[in-house]
Amino acid sequence: MLRKLLMATLVAQAFAGLVHARDVDMTSPYDPKVQDLTLRGEPPMLGIHWSREFSGNLQASRTSKPLMTNHGGKVMTTAIMQNIFWGASWANSTFVGDKITGLEAWYTGFSLSNYAHTTDEYSGSNGKVGPGTTYAGHIVDTTTASGGNRTSTILAEVCKRISPDPSGNGYYSVYSDVKRGNANYCAYHSEGTCGGVPVQFAFFWNLDGDSGCDPQDTSGQHSQGLAALANVSGHELSEARTDPSLGTWYDSSGSENGDKCAWTFGAPLVAFTNNISWKIQGEWSNAAYTAGTGYPNASGQKGCLSGK
Ligand SMILES: [Zn+2]
Repeated sequence: MLRKLLMATLVAQAFAGLVHARDVDMTSPYDPKVQDLTLRGEPPMLGIHWSREFSGNLQASRTSKPLMTNHGGKVMTTAIMQNIFWGASWANSTFVGDKITGLEAWYTGFSLSNYAHTTDEYSGSNGKVGPGTTYAGHIVDTTTASGGNRTSTILAEVCKRISPDPSGNGYYSVYSDVKRGNANYCAYHSEGTCGGVPVQFAFFWNLDGDSGCDPQDTSGQHSQGLAALANVSGHELSEARTDPSLGTWYDSSGSENGDKCAWTFGAPLVAFTNNISWKIQGEWSNAAYTAGTGYPNASGQKGCLSGK
C-alpha cells in the first residue's frame, strides 16, 4: 500500500497541473506501475523517459526483477522513420542550429549499427526485431506546437503530416519547440492509427539548456540540444521496437529496455554506421545480463549494452 501510495504521489507530481487528476487512469491491464499511465481515451504514454532527478527518485522506490519477459504482443520487425519538427521556432535558423541535420544523420546511421543490434534478441508474435531500418525524411511544421501532455494531440499532428507506412512499421518522431517546464519527463513513445493504419510515434520536448534531460556530451561534436535529443531518441526508438503497443517486452515494474538503462552510459561515444558518434544510453539485454557481459544499470544489474 505504501508503495502504491508513493507511486501515486510520484505520478501526481509528474502530472501536476498538466492533466486533470480524474483523467489519469491508475489501473492498468497488468500491475500498477508508473510506466503505463493511460490517459482515459488517449493513446498510452509508454516508456516515458523520466528526467534525471525524477528517474533517481523512481529507482529508489522500485525493486524490479532483472529480466524482461515477453507478454505476447508484437515487435517492430523494421522501422520506417520520419521526423516532424513542430513549432514556430523551427523556422528560426539559430534555434534549428545542427538539430534537423543532426537528427537526420542519427536516424540514417542507426540502421544496422552496433547500437541497433542491441535489440536483435527480442521476438514478438509477428517475428523478430530486425536491425535494418529506413529513414524517410523530415517535415517542418511551423504552426504553434503543443507540449506532450496529451498523446492524442501528438497523434493527431502525426496523422496530419505523414502518410502512414502501410506495413504498420511507421515510426514518427515529433520534436516540439516547447520546453518541458514542470513536466518530469523528457520524451515518450506511443502508438495509434492514422486512417486505420497502425503507427508508432514519439514525443520530445525542446531540451535546449535542460540539464534534467542532458546526457552531458562533452565531445564537442554536437550542440547540447542535439546531443540531448539524440540520447532520448535512442531510448524511445529502442523501446518502440521491442514494446510498440504495451504488451511485449518489459520487466516486473513495467520498465522497457530503454527504461532499465536510463541515464547510464557504457561508452563515452557510440558510433553509428555513417561514422557519426553519439553519447547515448545503453539498452537492456536479457542475454547480456544472463551471460554477465553487460554494464550495470542504476540498480547495479549488469544487462546494459551500448552496442553488439
Ligand atoms: Zn522509456
